[in-house]
Amino acid sequence: MTKSAKIKTIIQFLLLCVVVIGLSYFVTSTWVQKKETIPEKQSLIFEKSMTLAEFGRTNRLSNEMLQKVFELKDKEALQRQVSDFQLTEERIAKKIEQAQAIEAEHGSKNWQKIVVKFSLWFVILGISFYLLRRGKILPGMRKVLYLISLTVFGVILGADPSAMGTVKDAIVLFAGKGVIFPPRMIALTLFLLLVFLANKFFCAWGCQLGTLQDLIFRINRNKKDRKGIFRQVKLPFVVTNTIRMVFFVLFTMIAFAWTVDIVDFIDPFKIFKPAMIGVSGWAFLIVMLVASLFVYRPWCSMFCPFGLVGWFVEKASLFRIKVNYDTCIACESCAKVCPSTVMETILKREKTISDCFSCGSCLTECPSGSITFGYGKRQFPPAGKFEKKQTAKK
Ligand code: SF4
Ligand code: SF4
Repeated sequence: MTKSAKIKTIIQFLLLCVVVIGLSYFVTSTWVQKKETIPEKQSLIFEKSMTLAEFGRTNRLSNEMLQKVFELKDKEALQRQVSDFQLTEERIAKKIEQAQAIEAEHGSKNWQKIVVKFSLWFVILGISFYLLRRGKILPGMRKVLYLISLTVFGVILGADPSAMGTVKDAIVLFAGKGVIFPPRMIALTLFLLLVFLANKFFCAWGCQLGTLQDLIFRINRNKKDRKGIFRQVKLPFVVTNTIRMVFFVLFTMIAFAWTVDIVDFIDPFKIFKPAMIGVSGWAFLIVMLVASLFVYRPWCSMFCPFGLVGWFVEKASLFRIKVNYDTCIACESCAKVCPSTVMETILKREKTISDCFSCGSCLTECPSGSITFGYGKRQFPPAGKFEKKQTAKK
């Protein structure tokens, strides 16, 4: 590749990063920033003769909280004594702690923003799904869609909610307080339903960080989006997925053992709320952004908890990349243009199919139009289809 193409790539990359971080600084200072923290355990004062109302006043607990914790039917029940309820002090303290955690979660959310974000997600995903079905996403259009997606869902609407955050925060909250936050579980169900519907197409077109990494990767590609301007590598799936699984297990174990969220120290979604990034966060983010030039979606393939969970759900997806072997000429152009190793595994129907991000590159590359983003199971290639080609090449 020419020197000027390389310089152009570096400039575009730096510009994109600076603009995303700069605009995110500006936008986050205009949205109401609410800090999502799990409250510390409160030490409570108990006296057997106390009524619930007195217990609440002494410990600064609202009547609503007391009603939830003691499952009261009406406010009159606040005059009953704490000892009337067959609950130990530890049990009461635990129930209060859990109720406070749910209350804090609720209060930390910007519900208007969440509704707007989900509505826009459905619009953008609807458009992307339509274009994928028609096999019409060309390289220039892909970049524009990524730019729109990361600007709307990341820069303007912020880091939260995200598919990654729903998995991570659900684990952290359950590990720390033994509770689930119902709205988060609804969001997670919706994200997983999208994977069930159409592979990782949410990750491809809706995830703010996924689209940012993808755009960076495409900036470092030639005009036809086939080859890296700086050399790009396809890491073996066995390596990336092993790292992702180990990271997931470590994260979960640490959350349960010490109530520590290790993702929080490195969370690259914080690029959309830069004021909250610490030293470790900046170091990790810079490595991730630079790595995205050379490796396809490094965060998604090696670290993202949703990426891992989604990979399992992908196995049952209704819509996915499929090959028609009756017309396929076994040229393997699709596998070459695919930014990761997945098209090769799909094409040859290998046992383990890696993550397909439904980017659509293979759809437009196939010279015989044998690839579709279609409904149903994938076919198997006729025996020897690709071996013959290999022998011919030799
Ligand atoms: S796998 Fe990537 S695209 Fe999907 S949720 Fe995680 S960060 Fe986003
Ligand atoms: S197989 Fe590869 S090129 Fe095709 S949609 Fe999936 S990730 Fe993109």
